[in-house]
Amino acid sequence: MPLPYPDPRVALATLHGKADALAPALASLGLQVETVAIDTDALGTFAGDIERPGTPNEVVIEKARRGMAVSGLKLGIATEGSFGPDPLLGFLPLHMELLAFVDDEHGQTIVVEHAGHDTNWVSKAVRPGDDLQPLLASIGLPTHAALVKPNRWTTRLDEPLPVAKGLIDPAAVTEATERMAARSEDGLARIEADMRAHRNPTRLAAIGRLGHQLAQRLATPCPCCGAPGFGRVDARLGLPCELCGEATDLVRAEIHGCGVCGHREDRPRADGLSAADAGHCPECNP
Ligand SMILES: [Zn+2]
Ligand SMILES: [Zn+2]
Repeated sequence: MPLPYPDPRVALATLHGKADALAPALASLGLQVETVAIDTDALGTFAGDIERPGTPNEVVIEKARRGMAVSGLKLGIATEGSFGPDPLLGFLPLHMELLAFVDDEHGQTIVVEHAGHDTNWVSKAVRPGDDLQPLLASIGLPTHAALVKPNRWTTRLDEPLPVAKGLIDPAAVTEATERMAARSEDGLARIEADMRAHRNPTRLAAIGRLGHQLAQRLATPCPCCGAPGFGRVDARLGLPCELCGEATDLVRAEIHGCGVCGHREDRPRADGLSAADAGHCPECNP
């Protein structure tokens, strides 16, 4: 069912070929993704050569707005990924991805998010001459790429952090390791998975799933004003303990809301869980 937009074009600000992953889901709603080639690297890079100028939420909305400004369109989308060790389960890598939809037609911003351990992200210091094969296998060369940079580097105004990106040939990684180690203050190089979407089919697949999540959200009209995009905006904590009924830190209810008229409703958890395992209870398991 087409959405109530007079102009169905949506600006996608990217240099990194995400349109193929996002277009099908939005096309099911009659929306057309138009890539706007702006250099979003100015808003930060994974390699760390350019810092991100705000929270991921702020940056993803700013990216979408830049694409809208350049194209003159009233709708814009952008994604923002972040990667690192899971703060709770330190040994597992965590991929967080945000997808923003900025809608100046109705005056609302929708951000949907993905969090998962299904990622090839890894970051490791190596010495020239080390056996790189296991590390490169875990990154997934040649369908996925690696990047190499000095392990320790003090950024100077006249000399930004050198990074060799998009490497899919092990010989090129070995060569870059020697070159970057020689420039590093500690003689080591740092090898990471290249997380840019066009070099990372695993991340691209997650972005595709986020596109479907956004489409589902946009296909849900607000029960109050009828604007598209009604869905989860917040959560209420305090799921009761299964044994004593005490409130835990787990989500008790989802709060669904409309970004246009501000209407909000409590909804049960999507997974149907109505009581918390006693392991989460401050009384039963302090
Ligand atoms: Zn509404
Ligand atoms: Zn309890």
